[in-house]
Amino acid sequence: MGKSKQVGNHKSDKKKNIAKTWKTKRRAKDLDQIHDDIRPENAAKLLKQELDYDVTGNAQHYCLHCARYFVDLKTMKEHFRTKLHKKRLKQLREEPYTQAEADRAAGMGSYIPPKAVEVRTQPVEDEMTT
Ligand SMILES: [Zn+2]
Repeated sequence: MGKSKQVGNHKSDKKKNIAKTWKTKRRAKDLDQIHDDIRPENAAKLLKQELDYDVTGNAQHYCLHCARYFVDLKTMKEHFRTKLHKKRLKQLREEPYTQAEADRAAGMGSYIPPKAVEVRTQPVEDEMTT
């Protein structure tokens, strides 16, 4: 088929193509992106996102380490106990070595802690429990 499929947006210009947006958003993050995300300044932003109704749980429950959104706090807490999440924490602990090497090779980042960073599950605000 050619490019004859024109997508008209007069039908629902308010609700764009959510399915399409999802696909791009759901692209799995690389570990080095996640390392960026877990820096305190970035983490704070990610953990306090504005309500986004296109995102699972309105973007209010985000696991930094797995780059995943959860429907609610309970689900997220349960996720923290899963193998998947623990495995990810482990991966993230191991990664900084190579990251540090890369930075050193590039001659940047004078402040590199010699030890692996402590990667912990983000604190969960219990008051938010519903
Ligand atoms: Zn996780």
